[in-house]
Order: sequence, then structure tokens, then C-alpha cells
Amino acid sequence: MDIVSRITILFATLLAFSITGVAGNFTVEKVAPDVYAVIRTEPASLWFNPNTVIIVGKKFVTVVDTNIAASYTREVIAELRKITSKPVRYVVSTHWHDDHSTGNRAYRDAFPGVEFIAHESTLTDLPNIGAANRKGSVENGPGLVALFKRCLKDGKNIAGLPITNEERRGYASDIELVESFLAESPNFEIILPTRTVRDRLEINDGKRTIEVLFLGRAHTGADIVVNLPKEKIVACGDLIVSPVPLIGSTSFPLEYADTLERLLALNAKTIVPGHGPVMRDGGFAREMIKMLRSIKTQAVASKARGEDLDEMRKSFDLNEFEKFFAGNSQHLRFVFENYVFLSATVAAFGELSKKAGK
Ligand SMILES: [Zn+2]
Repeated sequence: MDIVSRITILFATLLAFSITGVAGNFTVEKVAPDVYAVIRTEPASLWFNPNTVIIVGKKFVTVVDTNIAASYTREVIAELRKITSKPVRYVVSTHWHDDHSTGNRAYRDAFPGVEFIAHESTLTDLPNIGAANRKGSVENGPGLVALFKRCLKDGKNIAGLPITNEERRGYASDIELVESFLAESPNFEIILPTRTVRDRLEINDGKRTIEVLFLGRAHTGADIVVNLPKEKIVACGDLIVSPVPLIGSTSFPLEYADTLERLLALNAKTIVPGHGPVMRDGGFAREMIKMLRSIKTQAVASKARGEDLDEMRKSFDLNEFEKFFAGNSQHLRFVFENYVFLSATVAAFGELSKKAGK
């Protein structure tokens, strides 16, 4: 056997171990025996499709998070069926945002009797703030698609600057995600959780204990994580999003850092974020904690000076963190501006105003 074919075989073996299948815009990574991370490969941009975790037990399967549209979830289910013939019994939604739960119906259709697990506040959030959010996405979706299409055609980004290749990829991906979401919107079905979690729920699947934990408010008021103590793996939903964190306008930036500290205290060796590649250490989360502590300090100081939201934003300095998370990328800086700077300030301002009773 010549050296080239040896290397090829070695490479193929390594690949088979870590990536068991590739279909659609995702890869399937085996993160432990019987535990698979479905990692989305859409580029970071304004719209999102989440990672999924598949945990194969003795008799049944537990899944963490679905997709922005049921069509994507059906692709994931097709991959899941290549991994195991066991039925899915539990689908855990890490929070109520549409990108993590619109695809839930695909599991209900494919696996009769499947249970949906989410934080207890989801029971009221999904039909209220969730419905309002969804209505907004459906109403604004066509305009966003038209805007991105115009940008691609004119060769200019949203700010009117010459478009970069990264922006082209981001906008094109957003167009596809929005269109898939809109295509299903006339038939949306909101599936409420059939089991809820306040602080902790435990599933024993015959091979391991699966802990479903609420560690505090952060990205939303309903973030739950799925911890596998035996494998030292945690699926944390959008508590962590990379390359650019997603603080979001429905977040709790003043409490977020403490929640992340509790996540790191689980001592997982493998972290599967809501969006972005699998992480093998807490380095990224620690940078997020630094930024969130700074956001809190700056917001509290601004509020103490009696500033309004505009003044708070003018006083804010997140340059160090923008540099760390977005680097020199024009596109990622735009994402940072939207999903960290603008959304974290509005959420922090809202939280502090609520506390002050005004
Ligand atoms: Zn998400």
C-alpha cells in the first residue's frame, strides 16, 4: 500500500469516528458513545438554525432542540434514523424561541407519544411573547428577504458599503432560512410542553442519567440546559452562541453572567452551544462572562446617572469585546451590533427600569 492511500484510509477512519454523516446544512458529530451533536453549517448571520443533540438510550432516544422550520427537522430525523431505529421519547426545547421549536411538530408526526419538555414559563411565554415574536417575524420576513436580495443584486451591504463575500454568504443563508420559515407559517402549530421543568428534571434512559436543569435567566427567562454527567457533556442552547454571542432583546443581561458561571460549574468537558461548533473548554464562555459583567457595570452606572436608553448607548464601550468576538469582519461586527450592543442595552435598560419601578 503506498503512502498516499494509507493516509487516505487513516483520514477516512478518523472522519468516520467523528463525523458520521453529512446531509443538508449540518454535520453529525459523535461526541460520546450514543451521543451525537448535529452541528449546523449555515454561516453566522441575522437568522439562525440551531444545533441538535441526539442521545440514544437503551430503549428510547432523547433529542435537544429542533429547527426554525419543520422541513429542516425532517432532515435531522432522517439522519437520526440512520443512527438508531429506537423511537424518540423526549424532545427538550432549551427555550421558547422559534428557531429552537418550530420543528417540534416533525417529531410529533414521526413519533406518536413523544413528550415535549421545556421550562414551566414556556407554558405562558409561548402563547404570549412567543406568539407576538412569531407574528413579528412573519410580518417582517418578506421585507427582510427583499432587502437582502437587493443587497446581493446591488453588491452593497445593508449599510450601503461594498458587500464582502462573508456578507453575501450570510445574506443568502438568511434568505433561505426566512423563506423556509415563511413557507410553513400558514400551518404553524405551537406545541406546548407536555412536561415542564422548574429547576431540575431527571430522565434515566437505561444508559445514563440525563439532567434537565434551569440555571437561571440569561438568553431568555426560560433557558434550560441538558447535562450528561457520565459523559461530561452539556447542551446549553443559546446560553452560548458562537462566533458572536446572542444576548438578544428578550434576555436578562444583568443575570446572564451568573447563569454562565453555574453552567461552567457543571464541569462539562464538551459544550454543545445553541449555534456554532462544539466546544472543548470554557474559554469562550469565560469571555462572555467578562463581557456580560462589563455590560452590567456600564448599564447600572448609566442608570445611576439618570440616562435614557439613547444616552446609555452613547456611553457604552464594548470595543474590546467586539474585537474578540467579531475580529475585523464587517459582517460579524454587524451581527455584534444587533445581537449584543443594541439588544443587550435595550434589555438591560428594561430590567433596570423595571427594578426602579418605572
Ligand atoms: Zn437560537
